[in-house]
Amino acid sequence: MKERIVVIGAGVIGLTTALELSRRGYLVSIVAKELPGDEARFYTSPYAGAFFYHLDSLASKGWLAQLQDIASYYEFLRVAQEPGSGVAERVAEVYVPRISMMETGYDGPWFKDVVRNYEVIDPREYPAGAAGDDIVFAFRYTGFTINPVQYLHYLLYRCAQSGINYVRRTVGSLEEAKTLFLDGDDFVEADLVVNCAGIHGFDLNTKDKENRLPVKGQTLLVENVARKLIIVEAMDAAHATESLYVVPRAGYGTLLTGTYLYHDDSVDVDAGLTQRIKERALRYAPELVDSDFMKNPGQLVEVRQFVGIRPGREGGVNVSRDGWRIHNYGSAHSGYQNSYGLANRVARLVQERALKSRL
Ligand SMILES: Cc1cc2nc3c(=O)[nH]c(=O)nc-3n(C[C@H](O)[C@H](O)[C@H](O)COP(=O)(O)OP(=O)(O)OC[C@H]3O[C@@H](n4cnc5c(N)ncnc54)[C@H](O)[C@@H]3O)c2cc1C
Repeated sequence: MKERIVVIGAGVIGLTTALELSRRGYLVSIVAKELPGDEARFYTSPYAGAFFYHLDSLASKGWLAQLQDIASYYEFLRVAQEPGSGVAERVAEVYVPRISMMETGYDGPWFKDVVRNYEVIDPREYPAGAAGDDIVFAFRYTGFTINPVQYLHYLLYRCAQSGINYVRRTVGSLEEAKTLFLDGDDFVEADLVVNCAGIHGFDLNTKDKENRLPVKGQTLLVENVARKLIIVEAMDAAHATESLYVVPRAGYGTLLTGTYLYHDDSVDVDAGLTQRIKERALRYAPELVDSDFMKNPGQLVEVRQFVGIRPGREGGVNVSRDGWRIHNYGSAHSGYQNSYGLANRVARLVQERALKSRL
């Protein structure tokens, strides 16, 4: 008989994991406190940027994490072709100021040979507003942006199409979740449970609690349209945790952001930071207020400010198995761009357990 699997969580990690397991023929049921469309302090996925760009190291990183990212990169480019998915292909430009350059002889990011249309940007093409930032390297490639709320609905729809049942329920333990496989109108016992509970993943795996690492981000959504996705590494010595991301989304509107506040899970908005985000965005993307581009208004038209808590983990994401318990939480700033790669790793853990039980 096919194994029954309960996935805890309906953020990008839970939904993608559920889909991947279902695609491989397992019977899957989702149990989640929050579902797409909900807003909550620790439901991170709706508050993401979101786009593909790896931040940990400019030049290189572990091969496993690279494979995860690349698996997701090509999947997102494919999904971008599906109308209504909330994913849009965009030219991405990355600017590296001298204060962010950690390496000598740097000649591009680890992904330069695997993404589409990678090229170094000639300094003569740098935006005029970048002049004061002492940019030492810049490159562009074909990227994508994700409208997270739209994409979460798209994922849930695909789950439902694949026959995955889902139910709103807060679980207190993995043992409880194991009793909540939704079969028609009844709950039955599952064979496996996958913990995709984001920052609450630590509450369901208490022995890992000391590794909990919330990372606060603050964003501003505006109606104005930017021409491309712009990423500027930290440029301001007085605010070393702040970069700039200009994220033009599907359906238009642009998200402006770029902050990392470690060990901070407060929800208050910093007005000074909002001002800095706006000023930086206008330096790199002046078309945001140029009526000749997409009939933009002459000033930024604010839709809403958001605060999101990235579910970080000391030591990186936890994808592991302990008997029938599987974990997939702690994706920090990369939950979207890792999502398909992480889901593949969970599927391999499920497979590995089946193989071991047959031996
Ligand atoms: C400002 C900002 C910008 C970002 N930009 C990017 C980006 O550009 N690219 C990128 O890849 N990532 C980005 N991220 C990171 C990304 O958003 C996260 O890594 C990702 O959303 C984490 O998803 P998740 O599914 O693990 O957690 P969540 O989205 O938090 O989902 C957790 C799920 O578990 C459920 N749950 C929790 N506890 C229980 C319980 N006890 N019982 C039942 N259900 C439970 C919740 O209800 C929810 O459904 C950004 C994040 C922020 C805040």
